[in-house]
Amino acid sequence: MTITRAMLEALDKGDPLAPFRDEFDLPPDVLYLDGNSLGVLPKAAKARMVRAVEQEWGRGLIRSWNEAGWIDMPGRVGAAIAGLIGAHADEVIVADSTSVNIFKLAAAALRLRPGRRIILSEPGNFPTDLYMLQGLTMFLGGAVEVRTVAPADLPTALTDEVALLLLTQVHYKTGRMHDMADLTARAHAVGALTLWDLSHSAGALEVNLNGAGADFAVGCGYKYLNGGPGAPAFLFVARRHQADAVQPLSGWMGHAAPFAFDDTYRPADGMRRHLCGTPPILGLSALEEGVAIMARADRSHIREKSQRLGDLFITLVEQMCGDVFGLISPREAGQRGSHVSLSHLDGYAIMQALIARGVIGDFRAPDALRFGFTPLYLRYVDLWEAVAHLANIMQSGEYRQDRFQTKAAVT
Ligand SMILES: *Cc1c(COP(=O)(O)O)cnc(C)c1O
Repeated sequence: MTITRAMLEALDKGDPLAPFRDEFDLPPDVLYLDGNSLGVLPKAAKARMVRAVEQEWGRGLIRSWNEAGWIDMPGRVGAAIAGLIGAHADEVIVADSTSVNIFKLAAAALRLRPGRRIILSEPGNFPTDLYMLQGLTMFLGGAVEVRTVAPADLPTALTDEVALLLLTQVHYKTGRMHDMADLTARAHAVGALTLWDLSHSAGALEVNLNGAGADFAVGCGYKYLNGGPGAPAFLFVARRHQADAVQPLSGWMGHAAPFAFDDTYRPADGMRRHLCGTPPILGLSALEEGVAIMARADRSHIREKSQRLGDLFITLVEQMCGDVFGLISPREAGQRGSHVSLSHLDGYAIMQALIARGVIGDFRAPDALRFGFTPLYLRYVDLWEAVAHLANIMQSGEYRQDRFQTKAAVT
């Protein structure tokens, strides 16, 4: 099938999600294919930030902890995120970063499985996931080790020595999606717990944590949830573990009575014990707006459009660029998250040349050009424009220019 621009325009006309585009403050002359890394600015977040800064902070000052509901924000925003990931409202809270939440929940899981020596993950998982486990096990003095095995070997590596299986549902580089329900069931069959990283899932897929029987989960606020740069992250603990799961960063905000100022730590009931220090109110304010938009969109429409965008992108690249690129991501949409990665030895320079033309994706070493598809603000016709630029850059050899060769600090 040859794709035409007119076909894409027709898809946009029939797109039930099309009205959402106007809720975002998109820069003119930019085709943004990196919402899987940093989501765009919701107009409502901008207005909310102004209010939070000028009114709540500027005028309300410390009174705003009570009067503007600041103190309840981690649970309130968490409850809204719960609706997006198949969790109950009282199973999710917003706190810290994804990295820190991995540490907290991995430690909590180990304590629930005393005597078990292994945390299982996969090689090439997002670095921070592995790094945080390495830091945690270092502090445990060798009693627990991190073992990584290729996805195909996970079923046999799941033994009764495994305390915790930590996986990212959608791989940050390849976009490959794990079967959460199947792997969770396999982990449970040997008595292990699961911790799912939803950084590339929340807001992009129809995640169903409780449907899969998941134990713990974490995820990012600044990717598909459009919470802004460095937005706080979320964490999930299934109800059945909440009474027994305690985490090691026992800060005062997770205390049963923070304003009793006791000398002795006593964890709060429910999810509040997973807080550590004072919540980042400005970050939470922006995130609440990003999540609110996502909550109004039909999840099945999001998944359907995301899959179609990915399929069309892959076909268009083949149609316009021939066999110049390898396909890193699964071709089958049902096995992919919401981004597609292409491989090319000059991937970095090609991405820089694209960005210079206003087509923004990103690069992941050593050779992956990554393109994210965000159904709320991307149009089908944007794919045509983006791939036409890519084809032009390849045919002209424009990416070979010196100015595209130097690596910046953030790729
Ligand atoms: C983006 C991402 C993170 C980011 O963690 P931070 O603590 O926010 O820097 C972690 N894990 C995965 C899988 C990610 O994709």
